[in-house]
Amino acid sequence: MTVRTRIAPSPTGDPHVGTAYMALFNWVFARSQGGQFILRIEDTDVARSTPESEALILDSLRWLDIQWDEGPDVGGPHGPYRQSARKHIYQAHARQLVEQGDAFHCFCSAERLDAMRTAQRAAGENSRYDGHCLALGEADVRARLAAGEPHVIRMKVPTDGVCAFEDALRGNIEIPWSQVDMQVLIKHDGFPTYHLAVVVDDHLMQITHILRGEEWINSVPKHKLLYAYFDWPMPVMCHLPLLRNPDQSKLSKRKNPTSVNYYRRIGILPEALLNYLGTMGWSMRDEREIFSPKEMADDFVLEKIHLGGPVFDLAKLSWLNAQYLRRLDGEAFMDRIAAWALNRENLARLVPLIQPRTEKLADILPQVDYLLGDRRPLAAADFAHPKLTPEQSAQILDHVSRELDAMRHWERDALFETCQALAGWMGLKIREFLFPLFIALSGRPVALPLFDSMVLLGPDLTRVRVREGLAALGVSGKQSKRLEKEYRAYQVARAGGANTASAEDA
Ligand code: GLU
Repeated sequence: MTVRTRIAPSPTGDPHVGTAYMALFNWVFARSQGGQFILRIEDTDVARSTPESEALILDSLRWLDIQWDEGPDVGGPHGPYRQSARKHIYQAHARQLVEQGDAFHCFCSAERLDAMRTAQRAAGENSRYDGHCLALGEADVRARLAAGEPHVIRMKVPTDGVCAFEDALRGNIEIPWSQVDMQVLIKHDGFPTYHLAVVVDDHLMQITHILRGEEWINSVPKHKLLYAYFDWPMPVMCHLPLLRNPDQSKLSKRKNPTSVNYYRRIGILPEALLNYLGTMGWSMRDEREIFSPKEMADDFVLEKIHLGGPVFDLAKLSWLNAQYLRRLDGEAFMDRIAAWALNRENLARLVPLIQPRTEKLADILPQVDYLLGDRRPLAAADFAHPKLTPEQSAQILDHVSRELDAMRHWERDALFETCQALAGWMGLKIREFLFPLFIALSGRPVALPLFDSMVLLGPDLTRVRVREGLAALGVSGKQSKRLEKEYRAYQVARAGGANTASAEDA
């Protein structure tokens, strides 16, 4: 048997370090077994998936020099490797399950399902589908389908007993069927849900080992049942520990930058990041901390992954990066500086901004310090402003941060409009409104134009700096709750067509 592993990222956001972590372990394990590693794009959530996100994920994995044998860009014998191009395959499989009596059509309206869930919650029960449409007769179903009634396809699930399965790291796991919902397999839009698509694809792509994050453990009963319905062998399941913030909470961008691009932009070397991810739940037999993916593969034993939540700590990563930087000879060091930021391509982006503002070339560095390097650390006093209270500055940074998190297309005009609308709602002149943002991004009240700076910094660095600015202001738990409430009020007002600042203010 050839070992085949995969990662299956959903292209719905930034390239996450968790994706790189899973990719590394799947790749290394496949390599250690002389096997193959596949990249599949899980883009069946049509509303949230974007080609930009897919391109960023592929680019960040390439930057890390993780190599996949099959994938949407390199092809392979089991394609297509993008789920949106495989809709007909899932539909045929769902039809098979309906014909076998393992799945059924469900016509329940959103209102009925909401009422059902509310009643279940009130009765202190698990919220799960109550089986209403299981009782429909075949002729009735056929007539409703022929009439074009909106529907989904759900899988049948046992009501009693437990589902037991093996995890390569955790041993036997048992989950009562009463906790497992009659999962939707095909949605109203005809697209499959993750659960159907992942099982069908892992089987058709001949995946033998599934290494993925522990957040998927509770999904295994559904998957195991689907493998049984199709009469397919189930791959080995191996749920890796989730990366954690230093306070042990799940790694989240509220507390730690999570985008691979952030680390790339601050000048972490790809091999140092990979090495660091390799120490998350893994240690080499001789305990050495510096090792390459090849050395890791030579030493790798799946069962030796430790389950204790590995902490992703920027200070430790920086230390490791320094070890890599110091090992480079002068030539290689210069090459890395150029690859990082000091290259023509990057400078070309800066030229339109700095050329008109430069009298002597020596003026350049003080202008672009915060764009190329980091800005200085901030303190609450940096936000002192004659017309803004610290609460207002916090509100600006909080709301902008929330808006930026939700922003899918990082463009100058959209960034400006976002701030303009918020300023209008807060009754502030745009110039005042932008002050805390200048401080957060550049560390000074006057810098290169703000929205151009945001574009040059990119979404990851911008978001991190705005969040750091907010942290420097020292927002209390109570204040943060109030800010959240205010932001909700803003969302409601905006949905109803709130005023925005006049163009004059800009
Ligand atoms: N698309 C899922 C994700 O984004 C993949 C989960 C799995 O590996 O099964 O994490």
